[in-house]
Amino acid sequence: MSELGLQYFKDYLKSRGYRLTRQRRVIVELFLSKAGHLCADEMYRYLRRKYPRIGHATVYRTLNLLKDAELANEVNFIGKRRRYEQKMGQKAHGHLVCEKCGKVIEFKDAALERRQALLCQDHDFDPNEGSLRISGTCLACRKKGK
Ligand SMILES: [Zn+2]
Ligand SMILES: [Zn+2]
Repeated sequence: MSELGLQYFKDYLKSRGYRLTRQRRVIVELFLSKAGHLCADEMYRYLRRKYPRIGHATVYRTLNLLKDAELANEVNFIGKRRRYEQKMGQKAHGHLVCEKCGKVIEFKDAALERRQALLCQDHDFDPNEGSLRISGTCLACRKKGK
């Protein structure tokens, strides 16, 4: 999966006239090696320990390129704590996103998926992709707020 993703990304960059620089490569390799939701800031801090010259902006820009290449999904659009996840080979799932701390809770619901499939059928619609995202406040933040 990781090798496939890297090759795919290389081809994507080439088609846009970009190169896979060493910095971009380590960012992409880290991203593709991790499952779940990755925070751009956490990735930056982690990478900087090994590659002190890596720039914050490079991490953000590379994640954006991964998104454009359809390899990454942005899960959390709120504030600075952007989170990304791998798009290839993902099972359909939804996200509950906390507006206060940026936490992302993933959920799968077979009944909801069936309902969505029926909804598309009813409207004679051929679905490509779609995921449910609900923003709000998590339990920990609600407790802190009181
Ligand atoms: Zn929270
Ligand atoms: Zn997810």
